[in-house]
Amino acid sequence: MSLPSTFRSPWAVVADAHWRGFFQYLDAHLQAKAFAELRSLAHRALQAIEALDAFMSRYCAQTCSHCADVCCTALRVAYNVTDLLFLWGLHDALPLGQTRRHDGDPCRYLTAMGCALPRYLRPYVCTWFFCEAHMQLFSMEPPRFQRRILTVLQDMRQLRWAMYETVQPFPLAHDIKELP
Ligand code: SF4
Ligand code: SF4
Repeated sequence: MSLPSTFRSPWAVVADAHWRGFFQYLDAHLQAKAFAELRSLAHRALQAIEALDAFMSRYCAQTCSHCADVCCTALRVAYNVTDLLFLWGLHDALPLGQTRRHDGDPCRYLTAMGCALPRYLRPYVCTWFFCEAHMQLFSMEPPRFQRRILTVLQDMRQLRWAMYETVQPFPLAHDIKELP
């Protein structure tokens, strides 16, 4: 049995109790060896996200305040399973819950000042998604910088896949909704 690749359906909208239940389930069922692997992978992924943060925050400072189509309002921006495994592997303070509790809600972390979460606590889609304005800025960067960033993004793909693989086999995401 394997997990779906995303956490979007039906997990894009979940009660906070189900969100916490996911982590409690991992606490109770994941073996020590898998946890140690996940922890190591999550900390490598954290370093990768930190390497991306500076220029992405710089791009946002240049563009987001006058954006006509704010990406954070897209209804399908949500944590997927790999995001949750990453968060759990960090064993740090967790976000309060999924990006929205009810259909049609805006992302709960969007404030007038931008995202309330540090980048590493956001769904990864909030980091890897390059909007048109950011693509334009990125295209003007020196080639060496672009290559370095593309390598970090590729590393992140591999790390995230490894995190997902570490916990297999695992119940399907929709079963987690039924967990106590
Ligand atoms: S679409 Fe781009 S410019 Fe607009 S809010 Fe999102 S990241 Fe910022
Ligand atoms: S988590 Fe933050 S960056 Fe992601 S959609 Fe919500 S407000 Fe935007």
